Amino acid sequence: MVSSVSSKGRLNAVSALEIELVPCLRDNYAYLVRDRDSDLCAIVDPSEPGPVKTALARHGWKLTHILNTHHHFDHTGGNIPLKEEYGARIVGPGKDRDRIPGIDVGVDETTNWEFGARSVRVLEIPAHTRAHIAFVVDGAAFTGDTMFAMGCGRLFEGTPQMMWTSLSKLMLLPDETKIYCGHEYTQNNGRFALTLEPKNADLVARMKDVDGRRAGNAPTIPSTIGLEKKTNPFLRPDSPEIRRTLGLEKENDVAVFGEMRKRKDSF
Ligand SMILES: [Zn+2]
Ligand SMILES: [Zn+2]
Repeated sequence: MVSSVSSKGRLNAVSALEIELVPCLRDNYAYLVRDRDSDLCAIVDPSEPGPVKTALARHGWKLTHILNTHHHFDHTGGNIPLKEEYGARIVGPGKDRDRIPGIDVGVDETTNWEFGARSVRVLEIPAHTRAHIAFVVDGAAFTGDTMFAMGCGRLFEGTPQMMWTSLSKLMLLPDETKIYCGHEYTQNNGRFALTLEPKNADLVARMKDVDGRRAGNAPTIPSTIGLEKKTNPFLRPDSPEIRRTLGLEKENDVAVFGEMRKRKDSF
């Protein structure tokens, strides 16, 4: 909560952003992000138009922006129909303009993009795709398919070194930063994490919580950077237990990361 003085001289509160999960397809999450003060409303990574339209109608909100973290169809499939219906502006990775359907504004780390009165930080986090970005605003980070709860994305267009650099960039965000990722993969990710680090008490405790939520079909999102640093093996290549499990005690972090990513591909 931030305070500002209005033109009438009264102290006005700036409302926190409202963020709502919109489950799409089989296991995707799109996110409605509403700024009450400016009456702007964005959807992050709309896989398909239907569930987004339903959520907007329920709230009586009008869509003004579409934000894409990367070009994959399960993150951009709703772009054109939603743009046609609401006239929303599409914002996505400038370095992948050609692959983002209907893009209006290309952004990168040098861009100062504003959503109402808030400035949105763009982080370039390639490897899942070569131009993948994250949007960071108001203590929330939308990490697409780069950082998942207890996991990370597949290396479709990058190397282990590239992904490790991207994840390291996200790890510099404050611990309380909320992580909104592109898929509900948490339970499977956690099961894999336990094969690497079964004695990590934070991981064991988190999995109990995740199993409980999934048993009730509830989401496990958002997470926080602080929790990920304690439980996500892909952020922990320096963990002695992980290194022992892999037999890679003397390798560097990138080598350990790369081996984990390879094992996860066939888990
Ligand atoms: Zn993807
Ligand atoms: Zn995806």
